[in-house]
Amino acid sequence: MQQGPIEQLVIVGGGTAGWMAAANLAEHFKHSGLSITLVESSQIGTIGVGEATIPSIRRFYGALGLKDEDVLRRTNGTCKLAIRFDGWSKPGDAFYHPFGLYGQDVRQVGFHHYWLKMHRAGKAGPISDYSLGVALADGGKFTRPSPRPPSPLSVFDWALHFDASLFAKVMKESALANGVKAIDAKIESVELNAETGFIDSLALDTGAKLEGELFIDCSGFRGLLIEGALETGYESWSEWLHCDRAVAMQSELDDTQQLVPYTRSIAHKAGWQWKIPLTNRQGNGYVFSSAHISDDEALATLRDNVKGSQRTEPNFIPFVPGRRRRAWNRNCIAVGLSSGFLEPLESTSIALIETAIDKIKLLFPDKSFRPGVIDEFNEMTALEYERVRDFIILHYKLNGRHGEPFWDQCREMEVPDTLARKMQLFKERGHLVKYRWEIFQNASWLAMYNGLNYLPDGYDPAVDHFDIAYLEKAFFEMKKSLDEGVAATPRHEDFLQEIGR
Ligand code: FAD
Repeated sequence: MQQGPIEQLVIVGGGTAGWMAAANLAEHFKHSGLSITLVESSQIGTIGVGEATIPSIRRFYGALGLKDEDVLRRTNGTCKLAIRFDGWSKPGDAFYHPFGLYGQDVRQVGFHHYWLKMHRAGKAGPISDYSLGVALADGGKFTRPSPRPPSPLSVFDWALHFDASLFAKVMKESALANGVKAIDAKIESVELNAETGFIDSLALDTGAKLEGELFIDCSGFRGLLIEGALETGYESWSEWLHCDRAVAMQSELDDTQQLVPYTRSIAHKAGWQWKIPLTNRQGNGYVFSSAHISDDEALATLRDNVKGSQRTEPNFIPFVPGRRRRAWNRNCIAVGLSSGFLEPLESTSIALIETAIDKIKLLFPDKSFRPGVIDEFNEMTALEYERVRDFIILHYKLNGRHGEPFWDQCREMEVPDTLARKMQLFKERGHLVKYRWEIFQNASWLAMYNGLNYLPDGYDPAVDHFDIAYLEKAFFEMKKSLDEGVAATPRHEDFLQEIGR
C-alpha cells in the first residue's frame, strides 16, 4: 500500500462539473502542492444544457470571490426566486415552490399547523399567501434578501438562471488563475494497473500519456473512467421516474412574458416543459416518456408552447434516471452526469456537483486510499441522490391530471419506502421530517404537498393555544405586511438593469 499525500489530481471533462471541480479544488488546495490537470475535448464538447440552479450555487461561487452581479452579468443570468408549476395539480392551475419560508413559526410549532387550523375554518387563503418568495415571484419583483431580516416573514433566498457554458468559462478562468493546467485532447484509452485495478494513466489522441494518482471523472453521461474503464454499474430508477428523454431548444425571448424571476415547469401529456429566461434568450425543453409519445410529438408540443422564434436546432437527449452504484471506485470519483442523473425538475444536478466537491474536500484521500473514507463518501452520495429522487417522485405521485395514461400511471405507482414514510407522516398530522443528507428543506416539501393538494388529516394540537379570532388578526397582519413589502420592491427587470444588464 502506498503512503503519503496525493500530488497529482487529474480531472476528466471540461463541462460544468469539470470546471466547477477544478476551480473549487484549486482554490481549496492552493498552498498544498497538489497539481491539478484538466483534460477536455473540444471535438466532443459538453452537454450544453443546465440553466437553472438552486441558491447553494451563490455560496459556491462566492467562496471563489465572485459576486452575484458579476456572475449575472457574465452569464446573461437572471434571478430565480421559485419554480412555478403549471398544470401539475390539474390542467389550468399553477403554484410556486419558492426558495423561502411560509409564515412564521410560533412556540416551536410550524406555521403550517396554524394555517391548517385557519384554512379548515375558512379563515385563511392558500398557504402561498403567506410567503414573501411567492409574492415577489408572482409579482415579477426582485430584491436581495436582507442579511438581517426584520422578521421571519422576510426570509427568502434566491438562485440564478444562467448560460451554463458561460458559467463554465467563469469557473475555468478562476481555475486557471489558481494554476490548473488545461489540456484539449481526446482520451483514447484508460490504463489500469494490472495488480490493483487502479487507474494509472490516460492515453490521449496527441500521443501523450497523462498520469495521475486520483482521477475525477466529469466526462458526462458516458462515464469514461467510472464505467468505461472501471465498470462500476448503474442503478436505474425508471420504475418510479418514467421520463427518459428530453428535447431542448433555445428561442428568442418571449415577448408576451417579461423576464420572470422564476423557472417554469409546465405539465404536458407525457412529461413537462421547462422555460428559463436569460437576459438574451430563453431556454426551453420538454422532458418526456418515450413510452407515451414519439420524438415528433414531443417536438411539436415544445414548438407549440414556445412563443419566441427558434434560435437553435432541437437537441434530443436520452437518459436513464438513477445513480452510479459507487460514485467513488478505486482511485476514481465520478462528479456530475457521470455519477448519476435526475431530471431537472428541481434544478438539482449542479447542486449535486457542489455537494460532491464538498465531500471530496472533506474526505480527500492520501495514497493509501483507505476503504473507510471511500465507503463514507459512497454512502453520503447514495443518500443524497435518493433524497432528491424521492422529492422528484413526489411531484409525479401527487399529480392531479386524471385521464392521461402517463399521469395516471405516475399517480398509481408504488413509491420507495423512504418516501411513503414521509408522506404518511405528513398526512397523519402535518409532520415534516428532514432526513440526513437531504438537500431540500421542510418548506420545499410543504410547497409541493400544498401545491399538489395533499393536506394532512390533523394538525399539531398546540395550535389550539390560540383562539381563532387571535389567529385571524395575526394572519391578516402577516398578509398586509407581505403585500406592503412587495409593493415597495422593484421589478426584476429594473434590478437587472441597475446591476448593468
Ligand atoms: P458534460 O457537460 O457532458 O461534460 C463532459 C465533458 O467531458 C466535456 O468537456 C467533454 O468534452 C469531456 N469528455 C468526454 N469524453 C471525453 C474524452 N474521451 N476525452 C476528453 N474529454 C472528454 N442541471 C441543473 O442544475 N439545472 C438544470 O436546469 C439542468 N437542466 C438539464 C436539462 C437536461 C435535459 C439535462 C440532460 C441535464 C440538465 N442539467 C441541469 C444537468 C446539467 O446539464 C449537468 O449536470 C451539467 O451540465 C454537468 O455536466 P457534466 O459536466 O457532468 O457533463
